[in-house]
Amino acid sequence: QVLASAGAEPQLFKLDLLKTAERRRVLAEALAEALEQDTPFFELYLQPQYRLANRQLMGAETLIRWQHATFGTLSPGEFIPVAEASHQIVPLDEKVFDAMLDWLARQALPHTQRLVWAINLSIRHFDDHRFGDWLLARCEHYGVPPQCIELEVTEHVATQDLSQVREIMRSLRLQGFGLVLDDFGTGYTSLRFLKELPFTKVKLDKVYVDAIAEDERSQLLVKGIADLARGLGLTVVAEGIETQEQMDVLRGLGCPMGQGYLLGRPRPVDSFLWRLSQHQDVPSTHAAHMR
Ligand code: C2E
Ligand code: MG
Ligand code: MG
Ligand code: MG
Repeated sequence: QVLASAGAEPQLFKLDLLKTAERRRVLAEALAEALEQDTPFFELYLQPQYRLANRQLMGAETLIRWQHATFGTLSPGEFIPVAEASHQIVPLDEKVFDAMLDWLARQALPHTQRLVWAINLSIRHFDDHRFGDWLLARCEHYGVPPQCIELEVTEHVATQDLSQVREIMRSLRLQGFGLVLDDFGTGYTSLRFLKELPFTKVKLDKVYVDAIAEDERSQLLVKGIADLARGLGLTVVAEGIETQEQMDVLRGLGCPMGQGYLLGRPRPVDSFLWRLSQHQDVPSTHAAHMR
């Protein structure tokens, strides 16, 4: 029991007052407990992604939230690193993937298949050579075509041997999954990842977007990244767009896609569905043709 081990009264328990290491230990235990339950403990949120030129809705990114009975709302920015460090990220991501496919399978709207649904996954999944088969089997189980699923992988985990990752990624591409290099420009393996792995998209990290309106160096960097990506046949998605000015500059620099609070905040899945049903300009072609 998390509370007992933390030695505090439930109503007095304040996660914020703990030192970082202790806080992470408590969270890791809470996560282990939550993962044992059959029902998902997290909520699925979706943030829309747009083509910047015409603000056409292209898809959405899945982001999770955890309402903990004692700790309140926990942000993935805090508990995902804990899940990574405590080796619980693989079962957690599998639950998220399953819950998202289940949700997609239950939607009657025909245009859910015309959008691309991005799901964040730890690169740790690629340590298991059966990962690709597992993903495909889940898609078949739910009747969701891999063409409308995109996997977002972050680069900040140091992985020496990319050969198995590459092999799995190639087979995922053949099956139709999209592959996104998330948080591009923040890690130390970016270019090596691009050189060795068959990504379909690059997600420009928010730190570049934050400075883009005022800072000329950031503009030059983003233009360089956009040119590089185009040359490699990759689509660039900018994350964290908060102002109209940022969006205009990004578009001018050749960044085709984006997401951020300006365009739409992450919302619980079911309210996203409402938004979809209101949307007039959903793409008319299948998701696979938009890559
Ligand atoms: P990410 O994939 O880079 O997601 C973008 C983060 O930026 C999200 O934070 C999103 O809510 C936030 N964001 C989006 N637009 C804006 C904006 O305009 N301004 C600002 N200030 N923030 C914006 P969130 O939801 O807290 O997620 C944090 C990270 O946790 C994600 O970063 C992702 O790497 C990870 N994550 C979330 N869900 C999962 C999951 O199911 N599995 C795994 N492995 N990682 C996940
Ligand atoms: Mg992401
Ligand atoms: Mg990102
Ligand atoms: Mg990020």
